[in-house]
Amino acid sequence: MHSMLSRSLSYSTKNLSENRSVLIVGAGVAGPVLAYFLHRFGVRPVVVERAPQLRTAGQTIDVRGAGREVLRRMGIDRIIRENHTQEEGVAIVDSAGRTRAAFGVESFGGQGFVADIEILRSELVRILYEHSRNHTEYIFGDHPSSINDRGDHVQVTFASGNVREFDLVIGADGMQSKTRRLVFGNNTSIHHLNVYTAYFTIPYSQSDGRWARWYNAPKERTVLIRPDNQGTTRAVLLFRTSQRGYEDLDVDMQKELLRNVFADAGFETPRVLSGMKNANDFYFDAIAAIKMDRWSEGRVVLVGDAGYSSGVSGRGTTLAFIGAYILAGEIGCHQDHTKAFIQYETLMRPYVTAAQKITPGSIRVALPKTRTAIALRNTVLSFAARPAVTGFITKLTKSKTAEKVTFPDYETILAQQ
Ligand SMILES: Cc1cc2nc3c(=O)[nH]c(=O)nc-3n(C[C@H](O)[C@H](O)[C@H](O)COP(=O)(O)OP(=O)(O)OC[C@H]3O[C@@H](n4cnc5c(N)ncnc54)[C@H](O)[C@@H]3O)c2cc1C
Repeated sequence: MHSMLSRSLSYSTKNLSENRSVLIVGAGVAGPVLAYFLHRFGVRPVVVERAPQLRTAGQTIDVRGAGREVLRRMGIDRIIRENHTQEEGVAIVDSAGRTRAAFGVESFGGQGFVADIEILRSELVRILYEHSRNHTEYIFGDHPSSINDRGDHVQVTFASGNVREFDLVIGADGMQSKTRRLVFGNNTSIHHLNVYTAYFTIPYSQSDGRWARWYNAPKERTVLIRPDNQGTTRAVLLFRTSQRGYEDLDVDMQKELLRNVFADAGFETPRVLSGMKNANDFYFDAIAAIKMDRWSEGRVVLVGDAGYSSGVSGRGTTLAFIGAYILAGEIGCHQDHTKAFIQYETLMRPYVTAAQKITPGSIRVALPKTRTAIALRNTVLSFAARPAVTGFITKLTKSKTAEKVTFPDYETILAQQ
C-alpha cells in the first residue's frame, strides 16, 4: 500500500532547503509530534505554547488504528506501552454501584471503550515533549496575537511583543484554536453537540479497583471514574444542555455549575464533587466537532483538534498523530507549500470524515434522559457484553472500521532523494 501510494503521489524531493522554519502553535499532542517529524524531515520547528508550562490536565486517552503506526515510526510505542494505565475494562454501574454490564480490555479485540493501550494525557504529552525537545525551540507562556501572511513568509507578532518571521505557521492549538479564528475568521463550521465535559483528578478509593466505572444519572448526566497508574483516580463529568458559553466561565464558576447540575445525581457523585474542590488540574470544555472545507489558507495550516475536532468520537488523539505525521511528511517532501497542503488534505480527509461520522442515537445511548431509558440501555449492554456477542460485533465491524494505514512512508521517500 505504501509504495503504491508513494508512486501515485510522485514525490519530487530533490534540492529541498534545510533552512525552512515553521512555527507550530500549541504544545498539546499534535504540536510535539509535528515538531519531531519536521526536524526529522529537514525543517526547523519552533513551538509556542500559551500555558507557562506543559498542560498536564486530562485523563486517560488512547491511540488507535493507523495512529499506532505513527507511534511506531516515532519509536515511542514501547515507552507508551510501559506507561499505560493498566485499567482492566469498563463496568456500567447503577446508582448503588452494582455492575450492570462489563467490557474487559480484551472485548472487541482490544479496541473497545477501554483499549489495550490507554495512557494518561499528561504522560503522553510529557513523552512527546521529551522526544522532540532536543531539536525544537519551545517557547512557553506566549501566543501569537497577529499572523500576517506576506506571500513569501509569515510575520507573527506575539503577545509578549516579539515579532518573528517563519516560512509557515501551523495551528495545533486545539478545539478553541485562536490560529483558526485569526486566519479563517468565521469560515468554520462548529457543530455543538450540546455536551459539556470536565476532567480532574481525585483521591483513590478502595471502590475504584482497576476498572473504569461508568454511571448514568437521569437528565442526561454521566459520571465516569477511572483509576490511574499513579495512585489517584481520574473523574469525568458529562452533561447535556442547550445552554451555550459555559466554557467561557472562570474555573470557580464552572465548578459551582457542576455542583448544581450533579447535586442529586447519586452513586459516588458526592465524593467526586468533593474531590473536584481541591483538584488543581481541573479542565472543562464544550464538546464540538470542527468541520472545515479546507485546512489551509496561504502559508498557514491547521492540524489536530484545531482543524478537525471529532467531538465525541474518542478519535481526537489518533487524528492528531496521523495528521501531524502526514503534514510533516508532505512539508518535508515539497518545497512548494501549496502542493504539500493539498496532499495533506487529500490524504487526511478520509480519516477525518470517518471519525466525524456520528452513529445516529449514539449521544442518547451515552446520555439517556430518564431512569427507564437508562435501565433499558443497561439491559441491552449486558446482552452486548456476552463474549459471543462482542466476538460477533468485532468480526462484523473490523473490516469496516479498522483505520488502515493509507499514508506514505516518508522516511523511505526522503531517504531515496
Ligand atoms: C489540558 C487538556 C486536557 C485534555 N484532556 C483530555 C481528556 O482527558 N480526554 C480527551 O479525550 N481529550 C482531552 N483533551 C483533548 C485532547 O488532548 C485532544 O482532543 C487530542 O489529543 C488532539 O490534540 P491537539 O494537539 O490537537 O489539541 P490539544 O491537546 O487540545 O492541545 C492544544 C494545545 O494548544 C495550546 N494552545 C491553545 N491556544 C493556544 C494559543 N493561542 N497559543 C499557543 N498555544 C495554545 C493549549 O494550551 C494546548 O496545549 C485535553 C486537552 C487539553 C488541552
